[in-house]
Amino acid sequence: MKTGLSAEYILRKSLCREPHYASGEDWKQRAEGEIDNLSYAHAYAEPGYTQPEREILFANWNYFPCRVTDILKRAGYGIEWSDEWTMCDDCGKALRTSPDSYSWQPSHVYFGGDVCLECLKGDAGDYLETLEDNPRTALNTDIDPAEYGYIRLQDKFENGFHQGQTDDPKKIYASLKDKYSRILFKIDEVSQFYTVFSVWHHPE
Ligand SMILES: [Zn+2]
Repeated sequence: MKTGLSAEYILRKSLCREPHYASGEDWKQRAEGEIDNLSYAHAYAEPGYTQPEREILFANWNYFPCRVTDILKRAGYGIEWSDEWTMCDDCGKALRTSPDSYSWQPSHVYFGGDVCLECLKGDAGDYLETLEDNPRTALNTDIDPAEYGYIRLQDKFENGFHQGQTDDPKKIYASLKDKYSRILFKIDEVSQFYTVFSVWHHPE
């Protein structure tokens, strides 16, 4: 790990300048509050992000001069917005909570807390059970139900904006529930205008 000035030191020093987005007279107080509550993660659990040399910092950067995030990045820190990220309750790695593209899907689930897919790997059976027999919810992460004994009944259902994309999970569920138990919906693809999903069941 790189040694050098701490993020807290750099941020406190930066407060001699006006912030990028000064809202009201109390910006300095708010900035100090951000520094006092600064949260750190030691790594990303979100795919597609490069591991910084030092920790990933979460704050509302609007309360700081815009140059300070460049200085922190050069010092080896990762910079993220605190309202768009959370941390895995198990391993403490950083997880995005708000989409950064139309096709984004979370890399964590809520199961008594935020849990990343790495921590859930091989052990997602109990979580999947919580999604069963509910057409208003669906598995929307990269977990393969087949690894947990589920059998796919049908895929390529489409629900969305375009003509013919009218597959309705409630109707599908109603048509299957007498024949199968432990039915699970899985979202396979999302885009700006539609969702592609499949339906699974567990034979036990
Ligand atoms: Zn984790």
